[in-house]
Amino acid sequence: MTIKRDDFTKPTIDILAKRVGYQCSNPDCRKHTVGPNKQEDKATLIGIAAHIKAASPGGPRYDLSMTETERKNINNGIWLCANCATLIDKDKSAFPVELLITWKESSENEMKDKISGKFEDRQSEIKNPFIEADLLWSHGGRFNRGFSEKNIEEFGGNVIPCGEHPIIFWDLVWNFSFVLHNNSRYPAFNLKLEPQGTIRFSYMSDLHKINNIPPYSNIDLDTKFTDFLEGTSIEADEIIKSKIPEKLNGLQIKMTYEDEDRKEHNSMIEIMNGEIYTIRE
Ligand SMILES: [Zn+2]
Repeated sequence: MTIKRDDFTKPTIDILAKRVGYQCSNPDCRKHTVGPNKQEDKATLIGIAAHIKAASPGGPRYDLSMTETERKNINNGIWLCANCATLIDKDKSAFPVELLITWKESSENEMKDKISGKFEDRQSEIKNPFIEADLLWSHGGRFNRGFSEKNIEEFGGNVIPCGEHPIIFWDLVWNFSFVLHNNSRYPAFNLKLEPQGTIRFSYMSDLHKINNIPPYSNIDLDTKFTDFLEGTSIEADEIIKSKIPEKLNGLQIKMTYEDEDRKEHNSMIEIMNGEIYTIRE
């Protein structure tokens, strides 16, 4: 007696293979399953449209509740090389339905990116070093530089009691560690920073003329921003409580660095709404 198998139709097999570009769907394998045959008018196909849930009773991951149509449906198939097709059936507990569905989805998504060119973009991006900037507040505060004349009563020339909140000349100071982090597997060379526009740090320590940032390493620079206020301590406290002051919003620094092939890369460091961003160009 022969056991009835709910095999896939020829068109279903064909579509399964094409949806993954004839590559094995096992992410650890990715073997090409089609290529030239020695005979010029033939191609060799070593791929298999495997059943996720078995085609016949007793087979791996067989689901009794499925109808014949469901078993033959393209949803129940996965394209694999001959080796992997054997593997998933021999060791069925290591390859449950859920895992095979994940393989199929990621394989199809990969191929979708490849035909749209996105995959290549991502590959080339990964090869490049990428430097990200961070601004870490280290210390600072408000410093009293003397009483304002605004505390003096105009008529009579008498100095009136200052009360609880006199008007003071304040120096406001923010000190930061400006961290340039190489967030990639590739070294970056000859980093240069060029402030753009009118909003600038009041001070920034110099980068060494010759510098490089190894993968996942930092260069830390000291930076400082100073401001001035004629106002009460309450007003000064309100301003100083921002770790990145409002007046730095809009700051832009162009960053240039080279990869191992001495190819130049640019990013823009920007402060917006009290946050620092690195925008890749
Ligand atoms: Zn394979």
